[in-house]
Amino acid sequence: MKFRIALIAHDKKKDDMIALAGEYKAFLSTCALVATGTTGGRLANELGLEVDRKHSGPFGGDLQIGSLLVEGMIDAVIFLRDPMTPQPHEPDINALVRACDVHNTPCATNVSSAHLVLSQLQQQAAK
Ligand code: PGA
Repeated sequence: MKFRIALIAHDKKKDDMIALAGEYKAFLSTCALVATGTTGGRLANELGLEVDRKHSGPFGGDLQIGSLLVEGMIDAVIFLRDPMTPQPHEPDINALVRACDVHNTPCATNVSSAHLVLSQLQQQAAK
């Protein structure tokens, strides 16, 4: 199964996202990836991953990903949020996380949980 994974990182978490995605690069390169604009740009430029880039988060990218999720097009969300910095698009962030809960879609919001989700999906993909 080709997993469809959304990747989003707030600015202070983008380096963590690159490091995380680098660890799972071989697996992620087999997935259909979608990301918010800046996160997706870094994943493509720095890791060479093929990513469907949506708008930047503050310009509606989280909502675009939420819409895909509601339509059943996303299997898991890795959303490295920055809990220490107020975000102008807080309502959009909450909407995306809520949509994950409504649709029972795995949503990892920190690096530890992201490892659990990605390693589990990687194992499933190998079966
Ligand atoms: P970005 O959006 O990847 O375009 O920075 C993420 C966000 O801030 O929600």
